[in-house]
Amino acid sequence: TAGKKKEGHKANFEIDLPDAKIGEVVTRFPPEPSGYLHIGHAKAAILNEYFAHAYKGKLIIRFDDTNPSKETMEFQDAILEDLELMGIKGDRVTYSSDYFQEMYDLCVQLIKEGKAYCDDTDVEKMREERMEGIPSAKRDLSVEENLRIFIEEMKNGTEYGQKNCVRAKIDYKAANKTLRDPVIYRCNLTPHHRTKDQWKMYPTYDFCVPIVDSIEGVTHALRTIEYRDRNAQYDWMLKALHLRKVHIWDFARVNFMKTLLSKRKLQWMVDHGLVSNWDDPRFPTVRGVRRRGMTVEGLRNFIISQGPSKNVINLEWNLIWAVNKKIIDPVAPRHTAVVDPVEVTLEGEGAPEIPKVELKPKHKKNPTVGEKKVIYSNKIIIDKEDASVLEVGEELTLMDWGNIIVTNKNADGSLVAKTNLGGDFKKTKHKVTWLANTDYVPVEMVDFDHLITKDKLEDDENFTDFLTPQTEFHTKAVGDVNVKDMNVGDIIQFERKGYCRLDSKADGDKPYTFFTIPDGKSVNRY
Ligand code: ATP
Ligand code: MG
Ligand code: MG
Repeated sequence: TAGKKKEGHKANFEIDLPDAKIGEVVTRFPPEPSGYLHIGHAKAAILNEYFAHAYKGKLIIRFDDTNPSKETMEFQDAILEDLELMGIKGDRVTYSSDYFQEMYDLCVQLIKEGKAYCDDTDVEKMREERMEGIPSAKRDLSVEENLRIFIEEMKNGTEYGQKNCVRAKIDYKAANKTLRDPVIYRCNLTPHHRTKDQWKMYPTYDFCVPIVDSIEGVTHALRTIEYRDRNAQYDWMLKALHLRKVHIWDFARVNFMKTLLSKRKLQWMVDHGLVSNWDDPRFPTVRGVRRRGMTVEGLRNFIISQGPSKNVINLEWNLIWAVNKKIIDPVAPRHTAVVDPVEVTLEGEGAPEIPKVELKPKHKKNPTVGEKKVIYSNKIIIDKEDASVLEVGEELTLMDWGNIIVTNKNADGSLVAKTNLGGDFKKTKHKVTWLANTDYVPVEMVDFDHLITKDKLEDDENFTDFLTPQTEFHTKAVGDVNVKDMNVGDIIQFERKGYCRLDSKADGDKPYTFFTIPDGKSVNRY
């Protein structure tokens, strides 16, 4: 088994793949290029990669591109970029559309062997017959007639061809309804983003996946458990087509509270302007969560730690953000931001009249993070919220500087204090962050709420009835000068405020914009 090989990973996987041999395992991640990758896809991709590596095997990235109505080059490119971003490299990148000819030939073979038939029953009636276990009137068409319809009508996309589909002749009254003569080919005149108008009919998922898995040498096909009923159908296809058997191995879909993962619903939100785009920080896409401050390491650690559980669960976002916090906390530089600045004039020793710059560690416990400029001055600013609770006569601590004693609260809200920098910081009640009242930069912190209000939507509930009215919250502030040296994407902590990721630099009137990163503790937000 691969048990030993997996040492060193954080995984709590207890299950080995059946019949897996070191060096021979081939897995595949088969995204349909019909949207951007989301966190559920990330799980599938990471699990496939995990097993491929654990068994020193191979991973295939396969675009499952058999439905031209939903798929585009834009999505395909974005998926490749996102996989790269997550550090997932397949040994090969393949396309189901590369096998259209093989699948066509196999369908002809199936028809010739009497295992498939063409059917022009209308959609409604076909559904009804399938529900009730009634055979289609076309079930016993002759092989010659079936071949004629498939090759002359469907392949050419004629009017009559378009009325038809091909169905596998399995068992019209099987207890497992997925076996009730599933559709395996249908016409579609929309040009395909890769094969253009070469084909006018396309294999369905149920026909395509087992064939391509088998042809490509996949040994273990990981599928989410809602497909379990279709496993028998998958096996039937391979047997009927005389193709090599593939092991199916199920894992649970991951869902998150107050989160939609369906591409169709996400597309709706993009189209209706609820979010800026697929990379919106409120979106559960790989791009979205990254922009929100999720690290690749955090994402991977989380998914691996979940393991290949078979129970579909609705996860709390806090779980994944807590894993992320463990990654960012030891390395995130500490910065200062002040909200609603209140000026404090310092009198006494150690408070320079001419501002003085010193270099201090960006992270007290981790010198490798580097140094930052701290400006000392006898005019400082502190948060209004902090200032409001201070009393005259109170001794407080200016963090990483020293103690001061409030001597006066002016009518305009500003304060006067005298220094006692060597005072005991263990004895003060309030420890406040501060900045010299000079040379700071405008910043804005943006926090987000979930797009929908309900933990889990039931099948009969319409998501548009549960949209959160306000999901974006802006806080203006000023930040220390070191913010000027940051790059977009950098993750920091504003001390006593939280972790943030720089989303855009200042530009004209626009301040440096930071997105707050959930730390896994908040209750209402992510
Ligand atoms: P669609 O509903 O449009 O088919 P999909 O989410 O199934 O969308 P695919 O591109 O077909 O998207 O999925 C690629 C792979 O990701 C599949 O193997 C699928 O099982 C897996 N996958 C999709 N959603 C999840 C999820 N929430 N959790 C785990 N795996 C998922
Ligand atoms: Mg799917
Ligand atoms: Mg799909």
